Formats: sequence, structure tokens, C-alpha cells
Amino acid sequence: MTVAQDVMPAAVWTATDTIEFRDVPVPAIPKDWALVRVEYTGVCGTDFSILHGTHPRAKAPLIMGHEITGIVETAGATGPAAGTRVTVEPLISCGTCVPCRNGNSHVCQNLKLFGIDQPGSLAQFVALPVSSLIPVSADVPATEVGLAEPLAVAVHAVSRSGLTPGESVMIFGAGPIGILTALVAQNAGAGRILISEPSEERRLVAEELGFETVRAGADPVETIRSTTGDAGADVVFDSAAHPAVAAVLAKAVRIRGTVVLVGVYKKPVEVDLQALAFAENTVVGVRVYTRADVEKAVDLLESGVLQLGRLPVEVFDLARTTEAFDKAMSASGILKVLISPSSEEVRS
Ligand SMILES: [Zn+2]
Ligand SMILES: [Zn+2]
Repeated sequence: MTVAQDVMPAAVWTATDTIEFRDVPVPAIPKDWALVRVEYTGVCGTDFSILHGTHPRAKAPLIMGHEITGIVETAGATGPAAGTRVTVEPLISCGTCVPCRNGNSHVCQNLKLFGIDQPGSLAQFVALPVSSLIPVSADVPATEVGLAEPLAVAVHAVSRSGLTPGESVMIFGAGPIGILTALVAQNAGAGRILISEPSEERRLVAEELGFETVRAGADPVETIRSTTGDAGADVVFDSAAHPAVAAVLAKAVRIRGTVVLVGVYKKPVEVDLQALAFAENTVVGVRVYTRADVEKAVDLLESGVLQLGRLPVEVFDLARTTEAFDKAMSASGILKVLISPSSEEVRS
């Protein structure tokens, strides 16, 4: 199948805080690449920093979008056939640095991503290497497939945590990553899970999903300590990346417990390293996900075990990308904003 059109609609980031909806050429398809017809693009904090001009690598003009769900339009010589629904592992690794050679290409010293360093999916089509495409069963609702990339982050975070069944978990931040981490930890057999989130709307989302939360106005550290016999949580996930959270991580985790840094701190912050050292805590970093994490995320989607259809998601048409970003940045009760180039067609 080849595309019978030369141009396609795209949302192009052209300058700080400016996205233009306009026609651009349909991308060429290099050897061993495929053309994917985009169904949904999720937006996240990385996209917000690009929009605001604070991302260290992104350069305008750029088609953002690294949380990609679509249907293969023009298949490569290998890889998924035309018509297959896919999610995308959007990482671009150099293949030659020490982490790459040691099998850790997701922490490549020169790591780049589609949607940041190369054109992404805020368009009708995106060209991608066939090796980045992971087929997903057509039985999974496409909006749930739209959560595959952040779900892979959560899978990676829980995997890095070393969580064992029955262990208590505290999660700072009830954004998409915090909530997905809670669901993955629960599925992995976590004992008590407590979520701390200052936005009341987001806290209520966590409550509606059945999670225990730190009640409005209460102190998160006092809450976790009072529910763990003053011990602290076995595993603390920081998906908030806020200085106020960094300041209390050492008080929220138990002696010899684990702190997992999931959120992206934009600046150095104060952390009580003495407390972490004296408690013999383990502090674990997290960056994106491995191929195996993305495949695990797809398995979770296909099994339906996390019941992701419960998550409040809102879909915006590609022409309304600026509005979609405003909604996504508002920390509202909508957990995930998805942008669709075909929602007009779907509606009509
Ligand atoms: Zn993202
Ligand atoms: Zn590398």
C-alpha cells in the first residue's frame, strides 16, 4: 500500500509556546522503515517542556509526539504487515557507546527519541524503523493502546524497584505515570499502596480507581508512617519530581527500603543524603524503558488485567492540539490527553 497523497495535516511546534496546524509533506520511507497512519498520540511532560522551549535537545520546527498508536500503512520489507495496529518504542540509540554495547540501549549515552530529535506522530502519518513497531491485538481498544508508552515507563519503574509481593508502596504524584505505576505495582502483588497527590481532582481519580490516598491537607510522611507502624514504605516511587517531595523521600521510606526516581527533575534539589545513607536505603534511577518493558506493557494491555478503560482519557482532534496541551498541562481529572488526526472521520 502506498499513500496517494503528497501532503498531510500536522501540528508543528514552530516557536516557544506556538503550535501551528498546517500541511506538511508526507514523510519519505527509508529502507527498513514503515509508514504508520497515526490513530492516537499521547502528550506528556516532555512535550510540555518542548512546547515551552526548555527541552535541552528539541529544536523548532518539530512535529512532536512519541507516545504513538497507529496502523501500518506502508509496511517495510520485514516487520508488521500493512493493516497491523502497532505501538512504538520511540527510542533512537547509537549502538556503539558502552551502555549500548552492554545491552542497555535505553540508557544510551547519545539517546534520542522520535518526537523530540526526529519527527513524531502529531500528524496524519509518521515514518518509523520497522524495529520500533510492536504489534498489538486488534481486540484492545485503541485508546488503551494509546497508554502503552507511559505504561512501559511504569513497568520499568516497578521492575527497577525490585518490589516483592506483599511489600508496601508509597507513590508521590497521581498523574498518568503515578497511577499506572500504582496499577502495575498492584498487579505485581504489592501490599498496601498509598498515593500522595496535591491536586484534589487527581487525588479523586486515584480514589475512584480504589487506591488509598493521603487525604487533602494531611501530611504524606505522617500518613505513611502511621499506616506502617512508624516504619515507612518498603518502596517509594517519586513520580512527582517536585522539590517538596525530594525533601521528604528519606522520611517516607523504611530503613533498608528503596526509593525509585521516576519523575524528571529539571534542576538539582535538596535531598537528605545522610538520612538515606544511615538508613541504608537504595535509590534507583529510571529512564524510559527497555524493549522487554514495552513488550510487557503490551502483554498487560492484551490481557486486560489492569482494566485501563477505567482511566479518564480525553481525545482531541489534531487541529485542536494547542487546546489539548492546555488540558493536559492543567493537572485536571482527565488523566491522559490523546490527540487523533482522524477523530473528525470517526465522528462523521
Ligand atoms: Zn511521554
Ligand atoms: Zn549508545
